[in-house]
Order: sequence, then C-alpha cells, then structure tokens
Amino acid sequence: MSIQTIAVTLPDGTIREVPSGTTPLDIANSISPRLAAASVVARLTPVTETTQEATSHEEEPAEAAMYAAGDSAAPRLVDLATPLTADTKLELVTEKDPEALKVVRHSAAHVLATAVLELFPETKLGHGPATDSGFFYDFYREKPFTPDDLVLIEARMGEVIARDEKFVHDAEPREQALAEFERDGDFMKTHFVTKFTVPGDEVSFYRNGKFMDFCRGPHVPSTGRVKAVKLTALAGAYWLGDEKNPQLQRIHGTAFFSKKDLDAHFARLEELAKRDHRLLGKQLDLFSIQELAGPGLIFWHPKGAMIRKIMEDWMREECLRRGYSLVYTPHVAKVNLWQTSGHEGFYAANMFTPMELDDGNYRMKPMNCPFHILIYKNSPKSYRDLPVRLAELGNVYRYERSGTMHGLLRVRGFTQDDAHIFCMPSQIEDEVVACIDFAESVLTTFGFKEFKVELSTWDPNDRAHYAGSEENWTLAVNGLKHALDRKGIAYKTIPGEAAFYGPKIDVKLVDVLGRLWQLSTVQFDFNLPARFEMEYVGEDGEKHQPVMVHRALFGSVERFFGVLIEHYAGAFPLWLAPVQVGLVPISERHHDYARKVEKELKAAGLRVEIDDRNEKMNGKIRDFANQKTPYILVFGDKEQEASAVSVRTRAKGDQGSMPLADFIAKAKTLVETQSMEL
Ligand SMILES: [Zn+2]
Ligand SMILES: [Zn+2]
Repeated sequence: MSIQTIAVTLPDGTIREVPSGTTPLDIANSISPRLAAASVVARLTPVTETTQEATSHEEEPAEAAMYAAGDSAAPRLVDLATPLTADTKLELVTEKDPEALKVVRHSAAHVLATAVLELFPETKLGHGPATDSGFFYDFYREKPFTPDDLVLIEARMGEVIARDEKFVHDAEPREQALAEFERDGDFMKTHFVTKFTVPGDEVSFYRNGKFMDFCRGPHVPSTGRVKAVKLTALAGAYWLGDEKNPQLQRIHGTAFFSKKDLDAHFARLEELAKRDHRLLGKQLDLFSIQELAGPGLIFWHPKGAMIRKIMEDWMREECLRRGYSLVYTPHVAKVNLWQTSGHEGFYAANMFTPMELDDGNYRMKPMNCPFHILIYKNSPKSYRDLPVRLAELGNVYRYERSGTMHGLLRVRGFTQDDAHIFCMPSQIEDEVVACIDFAESVLTTFGFKEFKVELSTWDPNDRAHYAGSEENWTLAVNGLKHALDRKGIAYKTIPGEAAFYGPKIDVKLVDVLGRLWQLSTVQFDFNLPARFEMEYVGEDGEKHQPVMVHRALFGSVERFFGVLIEHYAGAFPLWLAPVQVGLVPISERHHDYARKVEKELKAAGLRVEIDDRNEKMNGKIRDFANQKTPYILVFGDKEQEASAVSVRTRAKGDQGSMPLADFIAKAKTLVETQSMEL
C-alpha cells in the first residue's frame, strides 16, 4: 500500500510534498522549532475546486461561527494538530495575527468552564465565545455565583493552565451526543446542537483533561498557552434573552499573550475611566442630565456653557470668514414638510412622534436640511447667486430608545454645526476642497493632530439602491476624489458604503489615546433638490437643478464637547478653559490687592475666579488644581508691594514671581493664538 502525498503551499510560494496526515505542527517544526512554539493555529485555504455546498447560517453569526460548518472554499483556522488530507495553502498563525488572540480568548473560555465544573459540578454550560475585548461563558446554576466565587474560579483557572492539558479534538454521531446532553440535563447544549447541526452530522468536541465541550474550535495546542487571563465581570442574562426562561450567569474575562499585554490593557482601561466625560462633567461641573426632564437631554452648566460659547463663537466667525451665511430655523415643522423631504417615510422611526395642534400634526426636526432648502427656495436664484452656503448651529431631536443613551455621545437632542451648500455641478470640487480645509482647521484648532479620511462611494452594479443618474454619481465621486487629491490627503475608498442619495467624505479624528471618532462629514445629495424641485437659472437662461452638499464639522456640538473632555482629560487649553486664572490671596489683608488683580485680568478679557474664603493657602491652591484651572496666582505682602504675582501652572507647578503686567501679556498671547501651552 502506498502512502498518499499531498502538496502544501506555504506563504512564500514554496510547495512541500508531505504524506497525507501530516499536521501543521509537523510542518512548523520542520521549518523551525521556534516557529512551532510561536504558532497558535493554522490558516488553511483549499486549492482544489470544491463542489460541496456551503452551509449558511444567517442568524446569530457569533454562535454560528462557533458551531456550524463554514464555507468550505474559504480560508479557515484549524488546530496545529489537525491532520492535513488534501492539497492546501497553509499559513502558520502566530501572535502577530489578530485572529490568534481570539483563539487564545476562546480557549480561555474553555479553561473558565473547566474551572467552574471542577468547583461547582452541578453547573450547566451555555456557550463561551471570544469577544472584541475578551471572552465570556454563560452558565446555569440555581445558586448564583458571588464575587467571592469569581476569585476561587480565577485561582482554579490558574491551576488548569499550569496543568498544561492538551486541547484534543473529537467527534461523535449527533444522535449519541444529543442523547448524552439530554440525559445530563444540559438544556443549553441540546439547544445548540439541535440548532446548528442536522441529523446525520457528526458533532465536534474539544477535550482538555476530563472537561469536554461541544465546539468547532480551533483551539491553542494546550491550556498552558493561555498565558495571561483575568475575570472581569459577572452579569445575569435570561436564556435566549427571554425573561420566562431561567436566568443565566455570564462570567466575563479577558486574556492576552502575556502578562505585560494584560497589564497594559488594564492600565488603559483605568486611563479611559479617569477621562470618562460623564465623570469629569460632574467633577468639573460642566453639564448634567436630569432624570426629571428625561434621558439624552443635556443641561449645560455655566462652565460647560462657557466652553460651548467659545466653540460656537469660533465656528460662526469662521463660517462668515469662509463665505457662509448664518441662518436660524424653527425646532418643529408640519408633518407635510417631512413628507416632502421623505423623512416621514425612511426616517420616521428616528423621529419624535407627532404633536397634534389645531391646524395639523407637527414633528421635532431630526435634521436642518429641509429648512435651509425652504430659505433657498424663498427667492428665485440665478447662476450668479451660487454657491449659496447656509450655516446654522441647529438643534435637532432624534428618537433613541430610553436605555441606549450615553452621556454626551448618544443623546436625544443635540446641536449640529450644520451647513448646506447649493451649487452648480462645475463648482463641486472647489466647494469640497473648501469643506475639507475647514474640517482640518476645526481639528487642528481644537488640538487634534491626526485624522483619517474615508470616501464612501456607490456600487455601480447596484443601480436600484441609489438615487441620481450615473453621470451625476461619476461627477460627484470624482469631485470628492479630486478635492482630496488636491489637498494631498490620503484616504480609504469604501465602495457601496454611500447613502442612497449621494457619496460622502467622513473625517475621523484620532484622540490622545489613539481612539477614532467620527465627527466631520461632507455628504452629497441628489435626492432632496429633486424632491423639493429646487432650481436656478443658468447662463443659458434655462432652469437647472442645483447640487446640494450637507456638511457638519463638529458633527454634534454635544458629542464634540464629550470628545474634547476625554481628549484633554478635562484640562482644557487656556483659550477654552472656563476659568483661566484662579486667584489665591494668602490672607485677608491681601483681599484688596486681589480685587485689583481681578479687575485688571478681567479688563484684559481673561476669565478669573477669586478664592477669598478664610482657608489655608494650600487648600485653595489644591481646589483650583482639582478644577484643572490653567493658572493659579498666589500673592502676599511681597507680591503686593511689587505689583507682582506668584505664578503656578496646572502642569508645571510653581513658576516663581513675575510682574502682573507681564503675566497678563503672556496669557493674552496664549489665548489669542489658541495655544496648547501654558
Ligand atoms: Zn471551543
Ligand atoms: Zn443636511
């Protein structure tokens, strides 16, 4: 009998002829033992044509991916111990591959379940997938787990890892597996097997030691490869999300390749928590959300409102400087308007329900666009009037479910720095260049150094889903592309991601922690000008339809403010700080001098607060520092005699004494140049 040989193609193109049954681990070892040790799983891509039908599981993709057979022609991850039996492309997946971490995390979920069953054998198992930030496992146990149990479980997981048990793949006939699960009262496993396999299938299992779980894998070679793991939370959830079902215990955890990565992860979470805009909003008295008024509605307190005023003043001035006209429009309009705009159809679910008045139904506005169109249409336009650029800091209201709000980031009422540009097709490119220029200016002025740009275009093969002619789409997409090229901005094109009414440019800023935030958008629209029968008289004396660009740069003032708070951790640059200078007279006999200093600073346009309480100097300094006040000026007899102040900065502490006039000159320059320095 001859041994069959198969051809394994490696990523560098070399082909290895090996006996059928060779494993990826064998191949890794033959390349280098170090590679074998670094490999987590293997990625196989079949090279032979396959006629086998792919099974599709549309619902619950995470579960389907865990249990169901995938597309047999697509690349798939397998255990390093999987015998290869057909020609294949093979890639050894090491820690550098993002997929590898998911395999480690799912393996950690098995380790968790192993530990739970060893400590609490009566527990029934649900499922335990990897998530974006870690993993969880659902358990059913009559007596809920306690935080103390979690400590025991985590310690036992350490033992399971130390035992370095091999993850062994196994299979048995479906009917046999179902019978065993039913016999043991494993109602969740019975459900998953029934749902994700069909009669005649074999059911796939993984064992480590005495533990066994219904699972398609893949897994790391052994439990010892789960190097750094931590349980993070315990939560209750109803089985299948139905409150008539038993309540499950979901244990969350996370795992990394090393203790160092794990520590870095938790350090980052701590940093995120410290910067949380909801926490800082309270601590610095910037804004609140009032239960009595309802969720998702923002109350701007005096200090937050001061920052907002500066943001809005800057934005309005810039709009005027850049050739926009400022407008104000109502917060509500008759339903008829929303019917004309089409919002009443495709957007109705995002709108507040109608209010019935004596002359018809009205709705809060979810967008400003139709209002600006009405202003445009109020008088006839000729090509000489274009472009018309209408800008408004417009309050809009959108319906979000009551449980889904999140601080300033997800709200029901917010203010868009919204503008609509109505122009001729020939003007598109220049207008878009100007919009991008404006967006860049917003980001750099407010202290962001890095941003990413995406261009969403249509799918020309899917004409049915897009309004507007092919000619218009080509013109608009090219206009956006040329504009980006002219600005020398690198961007990612995302075909098929455009809204049905036109292509768009999204600008995502990168904050100090490297997080991406979607804020500015420049969006084309072929739809609304047609729905509202907008027109202008062209050079040819004929009537034409203008093109329309929606653009928002802060996006939402509320959201942008939330991002600013987190980006600066509440320590705003001098020009934005609600209180720029805190005054600390050392004792009561310096109060008159304090008033004089206050008057001079205010006359110079600076925002000042005196702490003239009968408190110790250090306590007053600490209070200003806790409020992240950029400058703290301290003065006693010596300063008073010399018309000087002793200067402390938020960042660098005591800077020594300087004449008051010098301090004022310095602070004024920093404010005027919107400097990030102190
Ligand atoms: Zn598994
Ligand atoms: Zn709009």
